[in-house]
Amino acid sequence: MMTPAAKTSKPVTVRGACPHDCPDTCALLTTVQDGRAVQVQGHPDHTHTAGVLCTKVSRYTERSYHPERVLQPLKRCGPKGSGQFQPVSWEQALSDVAERLQAIAAHDPQAILPYSYAGTMGLVQGESMAARFFNRLGASELDRTICSSAGGEGLRHTLGGKVGMKVEHFAQSRLILIWGSNSVGSNVHFWRLAQQAKREGARLVCIDPRRSETADKCHEHLQLLPGTDAALALALMHELIVHDWLDHDYIAQYTLGWPALRERALQWPPERAAQVCGLPVQQIRRLARDYGTLKPAAIRLNYGMQRVRGGGNATRAVACLPALIGAWRHPAGGLLMSSSGHFPVQQAALQRPDLRRAASRVINMSTIGDDLLRSSDASFGPRIQALVVYNSNPVAVAPESAKVVQGFKREDLFCVVLEHFLTDTADHADYVLPATTQLEHWDIHLSYGHTDVLLNRPAIEPVGQARSNSEIFRQLARRMGFDEPCFDDDDLSLCRTAFGSAVNFEQLLNQGFASLQVPPAPFAQGGFPTVSGRCEFFSQALADQGLDGLPDHLPNFEAPGSSERYRLAMISPPARNFLNSTFVNVKSLRDVEVEPVLEIHPEDAAARQISDRATVRVFNDRGSYHCTARISDRARPGLVVGLGIWWRKMGLQGTNVNELTHQKLTDLGRAPAFYDCLVEVEAVSA
Ligand code: SF4
Repeated sequence: MMTPAAKTSKPVTVRGACPHDCPDTCALLTTVQDGRAVQVQGHPDHTHTAGVLCTKVSRYTERSYHPERVLQPLKRCGPKGSGQFQPVSWEQALSDVAERLQAIAAHDPQAILPYSYAGTMGLVQGESMAARFFNRLGASELDRTICSSAGGEGLRHTLGGKVGMKVEHFAQSRLILIWGSNSVGSNVHFWRLAQQAKREGARLVCIDPRRSETADKCHEHLQLLPGTDAALALALMHELIVHDWLDHDYIAQYTLGWPALRERALQWPPERAAQVCGLPVQQIRRLARDYGTLKPAAIRLNYGMQRVRGGGNATRAVACLPALIGAWRHPAGGLLMSSSGHFPVQQAALQRPDLRRAASRVINMSTIGDDLLRSSDASFGPRIQALVVYNSNPVAVAPESAKVVQGFKREDLFCVVLEHFLTDTADHADYVLPATTQLEHWDIHLSYGHTDVLLNRPAIEPVGQARSNSEIFRQLARRMGFDEPCFDDDDLSLCRTAFGSAVNFEQLLNQGFASLQVPPAPFAQGGFPTVSGRCEFFSQALADQGLDGLPDHLPNFEAPGSSERYRLAMISPPARNFLNSTFVNVKSLRDVEVEPVLEIHPEDAAARQISDRATVRVFNDRGSYHCTARISDRARPGLVVGLGIWWRKMGLQGTNVNELTHQKLTDLGRAPAFYDCLVEVEAVSA
């Protein structure tokens, strides 16, 4: 079947893939009746999905048929940011957009900036036709750093890429460290494996500044201060050394830089780390003993811990641990942060960087607040005059949002947004172009939590006048006069191009998923994708950049206890029923979350005369944010947790937690340090 399910009254099921920014990448089965999707379920035959979806995507039909979905092109008819639009035809919208972009490009195409991220993880509706379009146009390039690039760089300089142990083997681990991850909410299929291991006697340890729902269900929780993970990892190394819980043979054969790392780690006795991390010293010693003696030991590391100044170094420090104890020798030992580096994606064939006629400047998406406000100058290049946003909601999710909003409100900025809904970002558009959801288009997916490729078939015809991202860019290309044959590729051929001959496409068409051939213990005998082929404790590439070649603890930009005025550290992980800013407008999910919340420890609340459920003002020099206090020991003393990411217009006073975050960048990967943020909180009188 090459098209959406026929409009029959007999229910049919269509195979697909979840497009959301989640490591689980579930296989979907959509039931279609009379041309309408009536149910979305997990595919029972896909081992990782096992027939189960999270609550969020189980409600996918509610999202696709949402009464507020944008179903026709819209043109702004009110002040910038007012969210006032009038419907226009596709013909008018595409002609106007093409004309405006052409006029700007005639002067300097670098004044045009694409802005996109993981609103869909699909390789076709993400960066395929869109990338071709912007490459051919010669637009500025976007440095896509907002989520994972600090950790990604940390892994690259240690293991050689985003590679790790196969997730299915966690079920056989004897010790699992769940580090910086609320797996119960955001990695539910991994959590099922961890539960299986637990039933078979494994010890589960959670490492997280917040007592998360995952921490509740683990044997032990280390509630460290944000930004201190590298100090903890170095102290674990210290204990492995002094108790000789090391695999000397693995270290000698498959690692690089051990003498130097050993010297570094010996500077981190548990007493020092306990002070830095705000943990009892005995807890660190106990964790080290467990890690050194319970085999096989596995680490599920997630991206929460790298959203601080030293996030890249922290990832490096943790990623060194498995090699020290030879954990990689066993399929159920090692570390998994991301598996995406195992996938042989044909990026150049999809994105066609060869269409770019000259090198362009690169704009970091994490500093969009500052960059939209910059004028032309020799170092920056031209002022940004046009922004084309797809698969992202920067007004809600980018740091220091007061500046982001100010930039988006510029009357001279031409802004086009491809979207399903009038998000905070779409409200600032000159044109909103209605995009299809995953039920309405082809796509193909890798995963960053397992090693299967998934194909997504359209289950239904596009709702309203929606068009796929790829189709919108294809039509814009035509109007701009781009006549290269690659702009005629349809979505199914883009799906075929994504992995070339590396994946059996007939199997994908027939079954919906296909597994990569990754060995059970991929690094049992070294073979890391580094230059040396070893796990690189010492990175010559970093040293060559004038950086520390060894991992170390770097204190936060805004270290807890460093400010008299702002005495609380704040982290802002996603609320359990939201996925970043996606799903905030799905009423049944929003009803569970109720309202924007700040978790605050009873001691900190009492010191500020804040009562439970009181409206509070959270503030620092960058702005202030009103929300509801929830007094809870989920936040440790000295830490508040601003659950995100609410749409600004759905929050109190039209702001969200990113009003408080800053645009300083991490040590590696040029990423934002969302969880490296000091604030103060006060009750708001009624
Ligand atoms: S968000 Fe994650 S758990 Fe939920 S359906 Fe998608 S891939 Fe599966």
